[in-house]
Amino acid sequence: MFEVSRTALVLLVALPVFLLLVIAGALWFHTRRLKEELTQRQRISNELRISEERWEIACEGSNEVIWDWNGGADDLYISARLMSMLGYESSTPIVSFKLWVKLIHPDDVDRISHQFLLHLRRETDFFQTELRLRCYDHSYRCFQIRGRARHDHTGKVIRMAGSATDITEQQFIRAQVKDRTEQLDAIFSLSTDAFVTFDQQLRVKYVNPAFQQLTGMAPETVLGLTDEALGEKINALCVSTRPFPGMQALRALAISPGKIGGELIELVFPTRCILHVSLNTNSAVTVSQILYLRDVTHAVIVEDMKSEFLSTAAHELRTPMANILGFAELLATREFEERERKEFQNIILAQSQRMATILDELLDLARIEARKGKDFVFTRVNLKSLVQEIADSFNLPEGRSAPVISLPDLYCKADQGKARQTILNVLSNAYKYSPASSAVQIYQAEPAVTNNRPLVGIVIQDHGIGIEKQHLPRVFERFYRVDTSGSTPGTGLGMSIVKELMGNLGGEVLIDSTPGKGTSVTLLFPLYGDKEIRQALPA
Ligand code: ATP
Ligand code: MG
Repeated sequence: MFEVSRTALVLLVALPVFLLLVIAGALWFHTRRLKEELTQRQRISNELRISEERWEIACEGSNEVIWDWNGGADDLYISARLMSMLGYESSTPIVSFKLWVKLIHPDDVDRISHQFLLHLRRETDFFQTELRLRCYDHSYRCFQIRGRARHDHTGKVIRMAGSATDITEQQFIRAQVKDRTEQLDAIFSLSTDAFVTFDQQLRVKYVNPAFQQLTGMAPETVLGLTDEALGEKINALCVSTRPFPGMQALRALAISPGKIGGELIELVFPTRCILHVSLNTNSAVTVSQILYLRDVTHAVIVEDMKSEFLSTAAHELRTPMANILGFAELLATREFEERERKEFQNIILAQSQRMATILDELLDLARIEARKGKDFVFTRVNLKSLVQEIADSFNLPEGRSAPVISLPDLYCKADQGKARQTILNVLSNAYKYSPASSAVQIYQAEPAVTNNRPLVGIVIQDHGIGIEKQHLPRVFERFYRVDTSGSTPGTGLGMSIVKELMGNLGGEVLIDSTPGKGTSVTLLFPLYGDKEIRQALPA
């Protein structure tokens, strides 16, 4: 009995100890596993943090942020860097769609939503768009958003992720380039000067509309041609005296970039014109050289006229000058009788007066040309009264009777002084080129309308020597005189002054003549008075 109870006692003590040991072992084992799991989680979380940091650093360097969306309203993640890029102090990532939409420019929201839905519905392979995001200071920055959605087997979106890149600077540069390009396009297309650009292989890359206007060559007929081939095509349009010099020669003339030397060429087709051509070599990647053609026809003609005018003026002044010098020298070096001396002095006086007249008329012309009528004072002028006044004060040549005037009251709009000068010049010609016995008549001209402007005027008619048909158009040229023998005094400037003045008065001068019978010069001035103008214009 006692033996049984001893065994039971041992068991009673050993069992709890055993149980305790088992529990302690299990606890130790469990704690160890927990510890291991914790270490593992710590390691994973570290790796995750490092990986995220790596992303953030990579994004910082590339001006990009990443975003991730798990499909729910508040399952969005946009890295905190976006907020700092927009100037906000917050360093927390964006996690709500509401906040995200608030940042988008209101004008962009609908477009972005539409593009987003298209991609969710798998109608686009990628979600890619540009939008404006509001900064802390209320300005906007431009971002390019790119991303792609993942769908489950049912077609439901399970995740979408991508990046957002700040492209504000790019956009600014793009806008500047666009603006520049538009400006250049406008300049090239509106320019009256022709431009041809060549690529690196010296082939025609672009021609502006003025090129076609000047040369008649359509762009499609020259694009892709080599520069030499284009040169030959242009040369085929030139006169032999002013040919196209060739690209090599033009390149040699373009001494350095920015400094343009060139040549004059003369085209006979499509219209006869003189062009200044030059070639500007360029170091740009897409354009190697630019051919530049400018219509200088008018400038060249004016220049030619100027030189011709100068040489004629010099020649006209030289004749009296030679006389003055010659006779003055004679008087200074030799002894002459009183009668001869008087004769020489008179020649010197007459030639000096002639020179003075030429210089006065030249100055008059220069003044009229320079002022172009800006100094004219337009008033209501009665041509009848003006003609009468001129006739009364006119220094009639000996033996000549006053002009026969038959005029009604004729009101024109003119500068009284300039109108007087034109009438006086024509009247003096009428007396100068008609015989003593003949009469000079002044009567009303047929009213005319030019460029919708009614004109009224007078005809001054003589019965003198007249002018041969071939000389008529040249009467208005400076220094042009039909009779160059010098038997009739004059400089040949009177009618050119009349022409210039009548142009500036808004009028016209016409000449009609029959050799041996006489000459009629018509002076037409703009009609005065609104009512009169309305009545004079055809309905
Ligand atoms: P000035 O400069 O002194 O007037 P000018 O009379 O010779 O000299 P214009 O008045 O310009 O010069 O005339 C040019 C030329 O036209 C004249 O030289 C003359 O040959 C011709 N001419 C002009 N008017 C008449 C006219 N009524 N009858 C005949 N010839 C004329
Ligand atoms: Mg004259």
